[in-house]
Amino acid sequence: MTTLKAVRGTRDLLPPETALWNRIEATARRVFARYNFGEIRTPVFEDTSLFARGVGEETDIVSKEMYSWEDRARAQSEKSQSLTLRPENTAGVVRAYIEHKLGETGQLQKLYYIGPQFRRERPQKGRYRQFSQIGAEVIGPPSAGSESPLRDAEVLEMLATLLDELGITGWQLHINSVGSSADRARYNDTLRAALVPLAHKMCADCQRRAVTNPLRVLDCKVPEDQPIIETLPKIADALDEDSKSHFAAVCAALDAASVLYTRNPRLVRGLDYYTRTTFEFTHGGLGAQNALLGGGRYDGLSEGIGGPKAPGIGFAMGEDRLVLTLQALNQGAAPPQVDAYIAPLGESLNPAALALARELRRAGLSVELGDGSFRLKKSFDAADKAARRIVILGEDELASGILTVKDFSTGIQSKVPRAELAAHLAQPAA
Ligand code: AMP
Repeated sequence: MTTLKAVRGTRDLLPPETALWNRIEATARRVFARYNFGEIRTPVFEDTSLFARGVGEETDIVSKEMYSWEDRARAQSEKSQSLTLRPENTAGVVRAYIEHKLGETGQLQKLYYIGPQFRRERPQKGRYRQFSQIGAEVIGPPSAGSESPLRDAEVLEMLATLLDELGITGWQLHINSVGSSADRARYNDTLRAALVPLAHKMCADCQRRAVTNPLRVLDCKVPEDQPIIETLPKIADALDEDSKSHFAAVCAALDAASVLYTRNPRLVRGLDYYTRTTFEFTHGGLGAQNALLGGGRYDGLSEGIGGPKAPGIGFAMGEDRLVLTLQALNQGAAPPQVDAYIAPLGESLNPAALALARELRRAGLSVELGDGSFRLKKSFDAADKAARRIVILGEDELASGILTVKDFSTGIQSKVPRAELAAHLAQPAA
């Protein structure tokens, strides 16, 4: 029989690496709470049309990468429906915002999520078919200030703080403005015209995009195409006055808060819903897949999927890439050491060892429980790997209530009364 393996592009996360994932998530939750964000959890699958309409039919994600299936009706009362594993979470959050009429509160909604996303991409380091994103959205009616450039700058400042607190040094923030929907449409036409005499000299993807979605040509990474892309008209020249002053205000607020950034006129990003501010944080330690996170403003998304006017701004960070970056910075997780390893001397002492372990664990200590069938040397070897101290439990110790404890960092062996054992083990190793 062939052995079964995790499906291509998916992977198992094992300890101790999962400790790093948990640390990242805990840090993100802590920082989000400080900025008054609350958690939203949306379903992992949605109606396919949400992504077709929300993210855009012509995007790579929707046209090539979705896991979709026809969900057959199981009863007469049900309709069969095309469903899709979510490739991103913003469309789902905005769908929930509309469905639960969150706009009627009149307040800005500040929501974050942590969870798996699915895209049928070509797997490589840092790019998977199931990956996890940590993201947040600020969305609300215009009367709540949802269009204000201050919201954009605050989200970017929060991200700079979050990356700093995660211990990710050396990140770079790139920002751009893609203007209003009208600016984008105008610029797309300008680009399409500019590409007519050039596209045949470019890669196959660009030749297709030059017709279907010229903006995406700017995202091309093929080296030979770069000199041509440099000659194309810049989106900054296509912005109307409102978009220009919005972008200037975002930059001014970032300057005031001393958040460093680079303006990158080619940053258009792969999702159709973006308007005005777009941004990406990159890191040199990631190699080809150097984007840690990306996001931007999506002032028309809610209306695009049938909701009220609800401008918003958000981002999604690749959690897998945060892990890779921290590992590259040598901040990966080391195997944890428990406070104590209990070594019963003989199988008859196993029940007493469980009782002792229970006592210590209930006192808040982390404890690994050995087995009375192990020889003492084997117990010591196992304990040395897993724990800071070993507690030996033989017949004498059980009868006298005085336990033998050895501290591995000092090599000192001591006798400790059972009543004092938890306090003794709680002391930091010397
Ligand atoms: P996007 O939703 O495409 O704007 O991506 C936002 C972030 O999610 C990227 O900057 C990456 O860090 C991460 N990401 C996107 N696609 C993948 C993938 N296939 N595997 C791992 N991380 C990804």
